Amino acid sequence: MSKIYNVGIIGGGVSGVVTALEMVKYGIDSILFEQEESVVNGPPFCHLHAGGNLYPDISDEQCRVLMKQSIDMARLFPQSIDERPTFISVPKSENYEVNQITDRLEMLVAYYKELIAEDALNEILGDPSSYYKTYNKADLITLENNPTVKHPNTADEWMTNAIQLIDYKKLKTPIILVQEYGWNLFRLAAQAQLALQRTEKCQLKLNTSVTTIKDVRYQNLEHNWEIHTNSDVYKVNYLVNSSGYKTGVIDASLDITAERLIEFKAAYVSKWQPILGLIPELIFHGMRGTPHGMMQLTPYCDNYYQIHGMTEGITLFKNGLIQSKSNESQPEFEAAINKKLNSGWEPGDIETRTESAIDYVTKFVPSFKSATVGGPPFYGAQQIHGDDPSLRVGEVSFPSASYARSEIIKASSALTVANQIINNIQEAHNMPSILEKINQNVVLDSISKNEIDKLASALAIQRGYPEALSRLVIEKA
Ligand SMILES: Cc1cc2nc3c(=O)[nH]c(=O)nc-3n(C[C@H](O)[C@H](O)[C@H](O)COP(=O)(O)OP(=O)(O)OC[C@H]3O[C@@H](n4cnc5c(N)ncnc54)[C@H](O)[C@@H]3O)c2cc1C
Repeated sequence: MSKIYNVGIIGGGVSGVVTALEMVKYGIDSILFEQEESVVNGPPFCHLHAGGNLYPDISDEQCRVLMKQSIDMARLFPQSIDERPTFISVPKSENYEVNQITDRLEMLVAYYKELIAEDALNEILGDPSSYYKTYNKADLITLENNPTVKHPNTADEWMTNAIQLIDYKKLKTPIILVQEYGWNLFRLAAQAQLALQRTEKCQLKLNTSVTTIKDVRYQNLEHNWEIHTNSDVYKVNYLVNSSGYKTGVIDASLDITAERLIEFKAAYVSKWQPILGLIPELIFHGMRGTPHGMMQLTPYCDNYYQIHGMTEGITLFKNGLIQSKSNESQPEFEAAINKKLNSGWEPGDIETRTESAIDYVTKFVPSFKSATVGGPPFYGAQQIHGDDPSLRVGEVSFPSASYARSEIIKASSALTVANQIINNIQEAHNMPSILEKINQNVVLDSISKNEIDKLASALAIQRGYPEALSRLVIEKA
């Protein structure tokens, strides 16, 4: 008789890989199917939302959840975290008030202290008293005249480097510098893939697309589900659908409908002249979807910069946000977006959109006009369960017995969702042999920096990006 796996996981994005790796800690064996040649190759991520400061409109509760989840993920994948701060500003042209952000920063400091009191290892955002710093106009005038610092260490040094490049007279004050770090997807992918290949508890099937699922739960068999690929059938007791924006395709094969939104978005890779000192990530807030939506400039190694602009000509797309119709599981994008998702971008499109993105940055960083296209864009479709497009914290749902559907919105929710799935397995006694949690992160921790460097670099090249994007601006030991 062919093997029966405890759990079958469809999709090796951040959610699927973290679920498989958490299960290892409980002795739960799994089989993970990923249709591409490496894991974590779906929609990108570059920012660790440790406090939700990129979202002036979300609730305090969502900010706290984002902070806790981000810390948990950073502890699992420390080699993917780029410890440079984030500069947060509100242009004078916007209706937002800076106090929409500053009012909750003290709440976040208090919450961060609580997390550290619970577990000292949670202190990954630096000392709580330095979680953020605000700068008024007089501070900026002083810093502007300080010398640039090649490798800044203090908040003032980071702000000095940034403010010398920015037309800050266009910005409201105070301006904020906060310890929200960068998050390198190639490095997370590398560590996760190496760990999954090292453990005997997970069988990782790359280049393997799941075609259908057969529900055999009520047929008195020793397994509940049969997972079909083009060439084989795999038997499992518990099914996890972590196929990202395609969760509805698996639902459809099980005749399950659900309300969901999916949104196609892109960020652009540019190369800029060498500047004298490192800069933080730069955020210029603006109303999403308007011609002055938020601008985000993310520094990478070797003078590469990634650009998001929350307008329709840059990160967002006409008809890029779609909703499932009643009695439908999977919303369908129009042909032009599907073409990008399935076959990649036309070179002309890469050039036009990246140049628009560069131009957008020059509004606040005039010298950025010398930047050029640095590589293909990062892009993908993101799922949002329900019908509220402003939701930022993801979930898991259990549409029927022995079936979990991961619906994360931000990559930081992956660990929370993995643990909710494990709780569901325990509560339902789906697994006869489930153990107590046996260790911390033995498998992930066994992967060396050297191994991560090597595979992350290979993954960046394999996916057509400059190798420098696989490295951290602030290198870790
Ligand atoms: C432009 C952009 C920027 C973003 N920036 C950030 C950020 O800075 N910080 C952040 O936290 N989040 C960010 N996000 C969100 C983040 O990318 C997602 O939350 C996250 O990638 C979702 O992970 P996932 O595992 O649920 O899905 P995915 O990453 O989509 O993984 C699903 C996987 O399933 C595989 N798959 C699908 N169907 C099948 C099948 N039938 N058989 C086998 N395999 C299958 C796919 O190949 C894919 O690898 C961003 C999203 C976008 C679009």
